[in-house]
Parts: sequence; C-alpha cells; structure tokens
Amino acid sequence: MLYLKSIELTGFKSFGKKTELVFDSPIAAIVGPNGSGKSNVAEGFRFVLGEQSMKSMRSKRGEDLIWGGSPALPRANRAGVKVVFNNSKRLLDIDFSEVVIERVVYRDGQNEYLLNGTQVRLKDIIRLLAGANIGGSGYQIISQGEADRILNASPRERREMVEDALGLKLYQHKKAESERKLAEAAVNIDKTRSLRRELAPHLTFLRSQVEKIEKAREMKDELSAKLADYLARENAYLTQETARVKDEEHARARELRDAEERIAAARDELERHASAGDRGEHAEKLAALEAARVAARREREQLVREMGRAEAALEFAERGGASPEEGVVPASAARTHAQRLSMMLAEAEAKESVEDMRVALRAAREEITRFIGTLGEAPAPAGEAREAHAQVEELARKLAEATETEERAERALAEFRRSGEEGREARHEAERNMLTHEAAKRELTGKLSAARQKLEELAMLSRRFEEEVREGVALVGAAVRGWENAAIPEGALSEERSEQEKRRRAIERLKIKIEEAGTGEGEQILREFTQTKERDEFLARELADLERSAQSLKTIIAELEKTIDERFTEGLKHINEALAVFFAKLFGGGEAKLEVEAPRVRRGAARENLEDEDDALYEEEEELYAGLSISVSLPRKKVRGLEVLSGGERALTSIALIFSMSQVNPPPFLILDETDAALDEANSRRYADMIKELSRKSQLIVITHNRATMAAAGELYGVTMDSSGVSKVLSVKLEEAERVAK
Ligand code: ATP
Repeated sequence: MLYLKSIELTGFKSFGKKTELVFDSPIAAIVGPNGSGKSNVAEGFRFVLGEQSMKSMRSKRGEDLIWGGSPALPRANRAGVKVVFNNSKRLLDIDFSEVVIERVVYRDGQNEYLLNGTQVRLKDIIRLLAGANIGGSGYQIISQGEADRILNASPRERREMVEDALGLKLYQHKKAESERKLAEAAVNIDKTRSLRRELAPHLTFLRSQVEKIEKAREMKDELSAKLADYLARENAYLTQETARVKDEEHARARELRDAEERIAAARDELERHASAGDRGEHAEKLAALEAARVAARREREQLVREMGRAEAALEFAERGGASPEEGVVPASAARTHAQRLSMMLAEAEAKESVEDMRVALRAAREEITRFIGTLGEAPAPAGEAREAHAQVEELARKLAEATETEERAERALAEFRRSGEEGREARHEAERNMLTHEAAKRELTGKLSAARQKLEELAMLSRRFEEEVREGVALVGAAVRGWENAAIPEGALSEERSEQEKRRRAIERLKIKIEEAGTGEGEQILREFTQTKERDEFLARELADLERSAQSLKTIIAELEKTIDERFTEGLKHINEALAVFFAKLFGGGEAKLEVEAPRVRRGAARENLEDEDDALYEEEEELYAGLSISVSLPRKKVRGLEVLSGGERALTSIALIFSMSQVNPPPFLILDETDAALDEANSRRYADMIKELSRKSQLIVITHNRATMAAAGELYGVTMDSSGVSKVLSVKLEEAERVAK
C-alpha cells in the first residue's frame, strides 16, 4: 500500500517551474549529479509537512525557499509544495479518500496551509499528520549528512524522536494540550478565587446593610401600624373634642349675651332708683314737708292761743263784765281749756325730737299761764259777748282748718318718709341683682375664654395632626390615612390624653431609629446585594466547574502519562530487540541499546517559533524528564561508547537505529537523503537489503549515489539542472541512472 502518491514543487528552491514526482513503487530512488536539486525534493517534503526550522531546509528566511530566478526564468513570488496522500485506508483522520496537503510561502515570509484546497492552520496539519504517525521531529526524513542526527541528539531529543517513532506524539500533544488547559484552569481558578476574595468583604458589608434595611423595613411596618392607630385616635379625638368645645363656646356665648342683657336691665333699674332717690332733692323735699308741718303747727298753735284768749274774753263777756268769783271758773271755760291742754300734751307726746317736744311743752305751759291770767279779768259787755262768741267760733273754725292742715302736713311727711324708705330698699335690691348678674357674667366670660383657648389648642393640635399626616404619608405611604374608612379604635374617645402622648413619643423614637438606620438608598443596596450575591454564586459555580474540569484534566493527564509510559516502555523494548538484530547484521556482531536515563529536571526544549497562536502548546516549562542514552559495543573492539565510533560506524549505528525505530511503528513513508553515503560496498549491499525489508512496511524515497541502493528501487527519478539553473525531473532506467551516478 502506497500512501504517498505524489509531490509537486512549484517555485520551491531550484524548482523554478512546476515539477511533479509520482510514486508508484515501494522504493523510489532519486538520482542525479551534485547540485541538481535532489535534496531540495527532500526539503520539499519537510516544508509541506510543516517544518518550521529554516535551518533544516538550509535557509535563513522563508524567502530563501522561493525560486530566486535566473536569466532564463524570472524569480517567483511564492514557493508551493503539494503532497497527495492516498487516504482510502483513512491513514489520515479525515473523510476523504485522497488528501492533498499544500503549503505556500510568500516573499514577505507569510505561510499558507491548505487541506484539500481549504486554508487551515499549521496546528491542524500537525495534528492530522501526528495521527498518521508522521511526526514533527522528522526522523522519517533523514537529510543529507544527518543520518547520525539521532546519535548527536541530546538524550531528551532522542527520546522525543523515539516517542515520535512510536506514535506517541499524538498522546504527547493531547497531554500537552491537557496540561495547557490545566494551567489555564489553574489560572482561572486563581483568578476566580481572588475575585471571590475581593468580593467577599463587599458582600459581607452589603449583607449587613441588607439586614439593616430589613430591620428598618420591619420598623417601618411597625411605624406604619402605630402611625395609623395614633392618627386614627387623634382624628377621632380632635373631631369629637372640637365639636364639643364649639358647642360649649356657642352655649357660653349665648349665656353671656343673656347675662349682659340682664345686667343692662339691672343697670336701668338701678338708674331709675338712683334718679328717684336723688339725695339733694329728697332732703329739700323732706325739709319743705317738715317746714310745712312746723308752719301748720305754728299756725294752729297761734290759733289755739288766740282761741284761749277769745274764749276767755267770751267768758268774761258772758259773766257781764264782772269778775268772776275768786276760785270759780265757768265749767265750759275750764273744759275748753282742759281739752286744749290735753291736745297740746298729746302733741308733745307725739314729738320725735326732744327739741320739738320741749317746744310743745313750752306751748302747753304758756297755755296754762294764759289760763291763769284769765282768771282775774272782767267780763265783757253783752255786745262784746256776742262778738267774743263769734270770734271764738271763727277761731274754732280756723283752728279746725289749721289742725287739718297740720294733720295733712303730718301725713305727707310720714308718707314721704315711708316712700323714701321703699325707694332705698328697691335700689338695694337692684344693686344686689346687678352684682349677681355681673358675677355670673364674669364666670361666663371665664368659661367662654377657656372654651376659646381650648379651641385654639385644638386648632393647634389639628395643625400638628395635619403635619403628622403629611410626614407619615411621606414616610410610610398613604396607608397611614387608614382612619378614613375604618372604625374608631377602641377607647379613642374615652382614654386619657396621656395615652396618646405616649404613643406619639413612641412614634418619634421609632422615627429616629429608622432615620439612624439610614435606609435612604435601600433599593439600590438591595439591588447591588442581589447582583453581588449572584455574581458570587456565579463565581462559586464557575469555581466548582473549573475545579471539576481541572480534576478531570488531571485524570486525563495521568491516564495519558500512563499510556505514554506503557507504550514507551513497550515500544522501547521492541526497538531494542530490532536494534540488536539490525546492529548485529550491519556490524556482524556486537550490540547497541537505548537506555532510559535517570529522570532529571530540565527546561523543556523550545520548539522553534511556530507562527500559530497555539505557541503555548510548545511553551518552555520545567519538567521532570528522563532522556534516552545509547550504549554501543562493537564486536572485537574493547572500547564502548559513541565517541569512539568512526564516521562509517556512526552512519551504520544510526541507520540501525532509524531502521529499528521504523520497524516497531512503521511510518507511512521514509525519506533517506544519501544516508548511505558513507557506506563501503559491502555495507551498501547490506543497506540495500535492509531497505527492501523496510519497504514492506513503509514506503521509501531514497536519494542516493549508490548503485546497490538504486538497484533496490522499483522506480528511479533523475534530477538534472540545465544552464538556466532550473531543476528538472525525469523517469530513468537503472543503467541510465548508474551512468548519471558515476
Ligand atoms: P548533491 O548531490 O551534491 O547533494 P543535490 O542534487 O542534492 O546535490 P541540491 O542541494 O538539492 O543538490 O541543490 C542545490 C542547488 O539548488 C544549488 O545549485 C542551489 O543554487 C539551488 N538552489 C537552492 N535554493 C535555490 C533558490 N531559492 N533558487 C534557485 N536555486 C536554488
């Protein structure tokens, strides 16, 4: 089965024109004179399979790989190499029966990789090839003079070549990738942890804030309930109390008006009495009445005296003018006199004042004196008696009149005095009334102003109530107006006001507490807390995921390591078995062996710079590495070790090694560029035999000047270079080839 169908070089190095080599035989030999471009073909293989080392293609820059031009053919702008694989057996893990891999490099150094005409990344090519045991360390392409590369290589590089040959590259890639992912995961775990750590204090802070907010909310609910109850009570109280006090105010005002009316009436009354009982007028009138009485009395007393004289005269006259007998007084005269005297004494008795009484008594005494005087007088003549009689009668009439006048004056005075007494009494009554009414008024005024003051207080309380409602609505919302459609709380109208005061103070304290809790940005903090918590939870999940995936990566890596280790150990055993055979065949005895060195920490060998972003895949890293050393002992020679081998011996040893490696895990093809250059004829024959043996498992492309090798090949390509410097390829016969070779 031939996997390699053909190679096409266009503008690659000396192949200025498109040149194709088609492989039909398990061993293809490329022959031609020195400098004709044979090695360029081998390098074309390296190039297209993703070689990144310019040195291994004998160049410094990408540009060096491009046909440089000659007088006959201008330089090219790009170098392209294309290989075609027969993939009918799915050598390459891609669902095509033929796979074309192409690489192009431009003068600016840009590279392009194409897989069946589609541009892909270098990484994709490397993976695809690694899966087919076509490795990057390139042991299956042995460049000219590099046959002993595996001998010159460091133990570590040697181990890589062997791993490559054993097809462990794929596992190595997988392992490296898993390790990279693990490292990434570790970084992410660290990052996530530190993010969580950073978040933690903020979260704790926010949590405590949220607790505070919740507490404040509870307090707010409490406040809401308390406020609603308080306001409902206050409203009920104010409504009822205001109505009651207003009623009282009206009643008191009305009563006050009545009292004022009564006072006005009393004042009128009083004034009336006052004017009636004017003191001056009263005294004047009293004096006049008294004077009238005195005058009337004098008048009467005068008349009494005159009457006494007239009666005496009459008596005298009636006795004939003779003087009455001594001691004999007419009875009439005596009677008249006694009557008058009795009357006078009665009057005196009636006198109120001592003075008046004395006056009356004096008058009585004068009467008696006058009567005694009449006792010695002579009677008047008869004419005179008549006249005296008439006079007495006249006087008696006047006296009766005067007596009546006096009695009237007496009565008037008594009447006046009595009426004065009554007026005083009435005035006193009026005054008492007035005082009573005024006292009542004062009391009412006091009550009214108390009611008004109470109303003012209620108005003030109402204003405070309004303010409290406003504030309450602002604090806890319109719910505080609950009283508007609810029943009056129990006891609101009967309890002590101090109960409300207690409630009010409790509410104030609660308000202060809420204010201290400072929940101004509550919503914002809650939102931030939720967000931060969600972020933390997200990070926790992320962390768990990362740790899980790190764990599974570790498992994968461990499994890969185990696989690599097992396969390596197993493979190495087989290589050593094959090596023993090849070595003995080439040297006619002796032995060579690959040995695993003691592990040591070494810096990972840096792959030459890949242009790909997956450079990390090849990043240098510290690792424990056990390289491979070679022990050689030649037959008939005592000395051991690589250092003592001749050039030919080295070439033989490396050929034995390369061949035994390719025996264990045969690569699809091997390219050997003048690997046989240092061999003598006998060894060249053995080499040719070994090639034939190898070709049963791997397709071989050999560049050679060796006749025996050419003879082993199934097809021969001759490479020539004409004067224009362009390499050309043609199929040649063995004889022709032998001629060219010589
Ligand atoms: P030998 O048998 O001596 O090993 P060879 O056949 O392997 O020789 P190569 O080394 O393949 O020869 O070819 C070398 C030739 O290719 C040189 O003549 C060199 O000038 C030519 N060459 C290399 N690179 C370019 C290039 N970019 N453009 C043109 N010619 C180039």
